Amino acid sequence: MKRGPLSAVEAAVVGCRRCPRLVTRREEAADDSRAVPGAAYWARPVPGFGDPAARVFVLGLATAAHGGNRTGRAFTGNPSADSLMPAMHRAGFASRATSEHRGDGLHLDGAWMASVVRCPPPGNRPTPGERDRCLPYLRAEVAALPALRVIVALGGWTWSAVLKAFDAPPRPRFGHGAEHRLPAGPLLLGCYHPSRQNTATGVLTAPMLDDVLGRARELADA
Ligand code: SF4
Repeated sequence: MKRGPLSAVEAAVVGCRRCPRLVTRREEAADDSRAVPGAAYWARPVPGFGDPAARVFVLGLATAAHGGNRTGRAFTGNPSADSLMPAMHRAGFASRATSEHRGDGLHLDGAWMASVVRCPPPGNRPTPGERDRCLPYLRAEVAALPALRVIVALGGWTWSAVLKAFDAPPRPRFGHGAEHRLPAGPLLLGCYHPSRQNTATGVLTAPMLDDVLGRARELADA
């Protein structure tokens, strides 16, 4: 159940049309019936979801055109979710190991999940302007999570976006397991992105994901 500030952020995100290129992309993806035949697409920006008492925020790059843009929930119905959600379940942050659709019964315990850019960019590459237009939603969600202690940044692009969002010079280098205290308070924790490219090539393995999420829990519980 969401409380006031998070509901206000959600309403603002879902109604947003600030990025013309991404509005076009999310609606065109919904019209591409070849990707997931017969699916009814959300085709709106995807807000964060999870536990309002979250101490850990797991943050990705952007909404997937045929994942969150289809299902309406971040990390739902795409290959990244297939790798990440079992690890979230093993770490005790997710009630189940799969994330398929908004009515699948998944709930998060102590965690919040979202992407920096809430609409699907072509080629999964947002422009700097698109990133900057969406950063206020990240700041607003972080501000609305009073118990937050750790932000897990999935990938170097996300790591840099968080540093920009919270104006955090010097800019420490991204790495898997890297840690940096943000001026706003939470600790930033790096993790390779659970993309199919990374998981299929062994760049990111299940034990590596478990290590980072275990560290996130340790930091959150400290
Ligand atoms: S990417 Fe963010 S700022 Fe741009 S239209 Fe989507 S929700 Fe709005």
